[in-house]
Amino acid sequence: MERSTIVRVHEGLHARPATRFVKLAKGFESDVELVKDGKAVSAKSSVKLMLLAVKENQEVTVRANGADAIEAIEALIGYLENPKAGLDDEAEPQNPANDAGQEAAPASVLQSPPAGEANGLRGVAASEGVAIGPAFAHFPPEIAGQGRLLQADEIAGEIDRFRAAVAAVQARMDRALAQDSLSAGDRGIVAALRDIAADDSLTGEAEKAIKGGNDAVSAVITAASTIAADFSAVDDHYLNARADDVHAVGRQICLVLLGQDDVSLENIPEGAILIADDIGAWDLARAPLKRIGGVICGHGGATSHIAIIARSHGIPAVLGLGDQVNALRTARDVALDGNTGHVIIDPDAATRADYAGRVEAAAKERAGLTAFKTVTPKRADGKVIEVAANIGSLEEIEAAQEAGAMGVGLFRTELLFMRHMHLPSEDMQAETYAALAKAFAPYPVIVRTLDIGGDKPIAGIEFPDEENPFLGWRGIRMCLDRPDIFKRQLRALLRAAVHGNIKVMLPMVSDISEVTRTRALVDECAAELKAEGMPYATFDLGVMIETPAAVLIAPALAKEVAFFSIGTNDLTQYIMAADRLNPTVAKLNDVTNPAVMSAIELTAKAGVAAGIMVGMCGEAAGRPDLIARFIEMGLTELSMSPASIQRAKKTIMAMAAGD
Ligand code: PEP
Ligand code: MG
Repeated sequence: MERSTIVRVHEGLHARPATRFVKLAKGFESDVELVKDGKAVSAKSSVKLMLLAVKENQEVTVRANGADAIEAIEALIGYLENPKAGLDDEAEPQNPANDAGQEAAPASVLQSPPAGEANGLRGVAASEGVAIGPAFAHFPPEIAGQGRLLQADEIAGEIDRFRAAVAAVQARMDRALAQDSLSAGDRGIVAALRDIAADDSLTGEAEKAIKGGNDAVSAVITAASTIAADFSAVDDHYLNARADDVHAVGRQICLVLLGQDDVSLENIPEGAILIADDIGAWDLARAPLKRIGGVICGHGGATSHIAIIARSHGIPAVLGLGDQVNALRTARDVALDGNTGHVIIDPDAATRADYAGRVEAAAKERAGLTAFKTVTPKRADGKVIEVAANIGSLEEIEAAQEAGAMGVGLFRTELLFMRHMHLPSEDMQAETYAALAKAFAPYPVIVRTLDIGGDKPIAGIEFPDEENPFLGWRGIRMCLDRPDIFKRQLRALLRAAVHGNIKVMLPMVSDISEVTRTRALVDECAAELKAEGMPYATFDLGVMIETPAAVLIAPALAKEVAFFSIGTNDLTQYIMAADRLNPTVAKLNDVTNPAVMSAIELTAKAGVAAGIMVGMCGEAAGRPDLIARFIEMGLTELSMSPASIQRAKKTIMAMAAGD
């Protein structure tokens, strides 16, 4: 018996929805298959189902054979026709290796290393701070099978051994999932691996190979390679990334079979610098982060999973070194600068002394600054200056709160979009923004709407090839052209605003119509939510001032919005016509240039005259040498990396005291 339908599951049967579909199918005794384009696979295997690559709006047939076939078809068709199936709880699992690799910025060997840095490499500065310490190379060895054909009487025993190993891996993953300390993101990753470990595809393939006379380790390696190759061949980025998951699970099973543990991070010495080509979720979930002095990786970029974890734990990190990381395999000691991306192998005595001095100075400064954590800094006239945090994920909340952030002045939502292989759903976004609002209430959380362009593509949005992506279809321009994406985010923000003090700001604004058109969309979203009976609350709408045009129309813009937040990173590059990523024009890219300072002053004047809040969320907001000038100009909110918060509070207090 069979029935056909059009799949309405949002974004199709990718990992989580496929797993749920399988769970549902397994609840029935009948044999159940899903058929697409004439190809039928068991509906009880999530791997096979994922490999069928069923997309939203495609036609499929559910086929069932058995006592409860009618009920099975009814339930499974109902699932396929539900757009929200699979989207109702945790964040989508992501593949850490792929996540990191994707966003890795190209690394370059230092053209001319500074004096004393002859062994210098340069990667992506992913988490600020400097570190020096013994190298702890984490390059797990390749696993090889025995390559011996089994005797017929050995096969049953080998299958038992294999099944026991699979059960042990599943149990280990279940224990990891039961840990309260696991973040939502890490939980998603481990859950995805657990699904693969529990799936008949991998275990079935491996058992077939054992029955053919292969030892269990060889069988697992072959089975994992076959399934991974299938995932790699599908024309879908998200499914391609599952290949790494299959290898990771296969590796865990092999290690149990061999009675080995992966080179463990458990024993990393205090203050050591962790060096790896990539660090997987499994390692991350178990790593003693408090003991790690610094992280250096071949993979990864500033927005990769490991970068976020490193930042939130205050661990300096340089990522994206590519193959250069191999030069570190035999290093004894390593120094790294997470502010510049420099890595020095076996530093000489002068460099050692320099880094040790900087590490000590930083530690001393940190210790002296903790007293400012709970301070509410004020201007001389008593007006409170909000010192808030710039963050890009829920994992960073803790670090921001630890630092004493008075709310969030910039929540970069790009990461939410970049970490996944498809666009995040409205529910997932609403949950994320609500969690943020709850964490900081009653302080405000300023969420910036999606600020993305051709230089940082994300799955689910086709960007045209552009000669100048920084002057192209990005930020608010792209959002207004894609109301399907923009409205999903605005609806999520309206829903989240019920839970705290959410404010919303628009990036890359250069024309007033961008604000008025957004406001109209916000009203439209609010009306829709009302009609749907969905709770929502309105929010203050502000703009980032980061284009010269926005500065020049600031008096008119100020009448349209509730606040300004000056984005000095982009404002500097656009005012100075100097690409912020191009080191050859780095000298021009200077916020203290009089042209940029006068743009900031013009903006502040316009905002103050209109009586709206003027803040700053560019990197300059955390600079102790500039804070006094910004406050004199009339800025009352400064938002920065959590690591700069206590120093900024101290600077403001000193200024108010007339020091
Ligand atoms: C800025 O441009 O100053 C800013 C804060 O935004 P981003 O660095 O994300 O472009
Ligand atoms: Mg910007």
